[in-house]
Amino acid sequence: MSIQTSDPNETADSLKSLSLIASHSHITGLGLDPQLQPLPTSQGMVGQLKARRAAGIILKMVQNGTIAGRAVLVAGPPSTGKTALAMGLSQSLGKDVPFTALAGSEIFSLELSKTEALTQALRKSIGVRIKEETELIEGEVVEIQIDRSITGGHKQGKLTIKTTDMETIYELGNKMIDGLTKEKVLAGDVISIDKASGKITKLGRSFARSRDYDAMGADTRFVQCPEGELQKRKTVVHTVSLHEIDVINSRTQGFLALFTGDTGEIRSEVRDQINTKVAEWKEEGKAEIVPGVLFIDEVHMLDIECFSFINRAIEDEFAPIIIMATNRGISQTRGTNYKSPHGLPLDLLDRSIIITTSSYNEEEVKTILSIRAQEEEVELAPDALDLLTKTGMETSLRYSSNLISVAQQIAQKRKSNVVEIVDIKRAYLLFLDSKRSVKFVQENESQYID
Ligand code: ATP
Repeated sequence: MSIQTSDPNETADSLKSLSLIASHSHITGLGLDPQLQPLPTSQGMVGQLKARRAAGIILKMVQNGTIAGRAVLVAGPPSTGKTALAMGLSQSLGKDVPFTALAGSEIFSLELSKTEALTQALRKSIGVRIKEETELIEGEVVEIQIDRSITGGHKQGKLTIKTTDMETIYELGNKMIDGLTKEKVLAGDVISIDKASGKITKLGRSFARSRDYDAMGADTRFVQCPEGELQKRKTVVHTVSLHEIDVINSRTQGFLALFTGDTGEIRSEVRDQINTKVAEWKEEGKAEIVPGVLFIDEVHMLDIECFSFINRAIEDEFAPIIIMATNRGISQTRGTNYKSPHGLPLDLLDRSIIITTSSYNEEEVKTILSIRAQEEEVELAPDALDLLTKTGMETSLRYSSNLISVAQQIAQKRKSNVVEIVDIKRAYLLFLDSKRSVKFVQENESQYID
């Protein structure tokens, strides 16, 4: 079976950008020093020092391969950076380490069974770093292949020239073009390619003097077919997720499902074949498994079946680092009649490393909001930042953070590039935070359908 891994530039990157959680785009790591101690503000991370120190230890465990069989649980009030922490950890592990975030309630959909949804999330969080031998230099010829076979006593040449410009693939085979119709292309020959027309001409081996090249003009590129070594290649490495490989190789879905997200159930035989193939690549040194991070927010929304599934998944050969988050205290485990800390069954709780986050002080909220404004390229007047901070302390960090781009739109309407206090006030009046929204609904209850 030949397994397709997709074009790294086309699918993996666009998927990454689709799944990128924009509100955390300022986080580039955990912000730790070389001794893994948290710096007050670094890599977009602010405060929350105890939790970041703990995350640093987990980072070390992951790097040393001693995390296996365990999950991480981050417990803390809303908007205290639980997602940010998980994202920072995955960024600290490496640039191409996959990060998948999902809310507990997303597992319950009509199209997929709970276990299929969890399996897909797990496989999205496992990267396969593939080494491929191809040369990729912008605008350059990347592959020259001369395949000479003997047919009917005659030598025939097949020359393939691929360029990084994906649409430019010249192939000369039995249907050779122009001057090459009757000639064979041999190693050492120089050919020219007219960039505009694509016309290929054989120039002979002696065509090597620079004035000859000059005479052909700037629109021609030259290729000297390599001697001896008939394939000219270079190693490139790209990372795709196991899920991407599943989808591309799943005949019922096709790779377009990667963009629509409408992947449906993937047959277990497809996954088995892919696991075998990937294990083979690993064995042959062609690929490396990169465990990423699967972040499950509102984990208390999962039920006992999902928890058992996770319990088993942690043990799997290809397991990502599972980070769960909750803002619940003692609550009922869904699907059972008993209560437990954070709604997690005790056996999973027992296998979890628990980190807690706590609320931010005013200075920290201000720094986070100011980093967000920079990230969104919004210039905030100092008193506008003060008001935004006050709002953040009284409502929530997330609400206040969301006001930044709204206030910028309002400022632009009055032709100002700087967001002033008036813009924040207008944004605050236009959009309700959760407390005011509850109050509004209560006051206007009669107008809503029960
Ligand atoms: P919830 O429980 O509601 O899911 P959460 O604890 O996961 O919330 P986040 O979503 O991580 O909170 O935080 C809200 C916003 O504040 C995000 O934009 C996040 O990137 C930012 N943020 C939170 N904590 C920090 C921090 N310590 N440093 C920098 N940015 C932070």
